[in-house]
Amino acid sequence: MNIYIKGIEFKLIIEEKPNNKNTYYSLRYPNIIYMKCNKLTSNPDYIIKNILPRIEDKILRMYQKNLKLGEINNLDNKIDENHIHLLGKKYNLNISISDKDIIYLDFKNIYVQSKIDDQKYIQKIIDTLYNDTLRQIVEDNISGIKSRFSIKYDIKFEYKRAKTYFGECFFKEKRIILSSFLAKYEIKYILSVIYHEIGHFFVHNHQDKFYDLLENVFPDYKETQKELRRIKYLEKY
Ligand SMILES: [Zn+2]
Repeated sequence: MNIYIKGIEFKLIIEEKPNNKNTYYSLRYPNIIYMKCNKLTSNPDYIIKNILPRIEDKILRMYQKNLKLGEINNLDNKIDENHIHLLGKKYNLNISISDKDIIYLDFKNIYVQSKIDDQKYIQKIIDTLYNDTLRQIVEDNISGIKSRFSIKYDIKFEYKRAKTYFGECFFKEKRIILSSFLAKYEIKYILSVIYHEIGHFFVHNHQDKFYDLLENVFPDYKETQKELRRIKYLEKY
């Protein structure tokens, strides 16, 4: 059945679990309140009168979170042609055909002028923005990161479109490749990937020692990576 909390419509699904001591609830994407109740509490009137008022603030907060996740993860699975993310922020994408290749942005929009009306060609122009963004972040943060690891030598960074990884490490050459795609993400996620790759200078595999090292230099590393894996941008460019 449908109910309203502060004017927002929710679907309420009640499952009776006679052996439950307590009532459990969760919010399924995007607006389905799923309740596991015992015999006493599974009556809808009882839920609406006695349980919902106590949890409605929490439900609303969960709902807002769902919406945000839905937006960035594009849970409808449609590839978004009209927006791209940069550093976790969503921009309108305006592409036009011109006699020059240019890309620039303001607070809300990214403008691309392309000489050729071709997806791959346009992708390359947009990748220059992604790569420049990553290069800037590396420049701004590398000395701090190196001192966390007590590294004195130079590290070489390269930026290129790679679909299967965010970062790649060539530890013998002290060289790291970052995928252009990574520029879509918030800076903390970008930094966590940089820390990860530099961590491979010290531990080459992904055993516990590796993650212990990372937690040491990047607090909440595991949590940050977990979040990163949950965010998938389904965008054309
Ligand atoms: Zn790795």
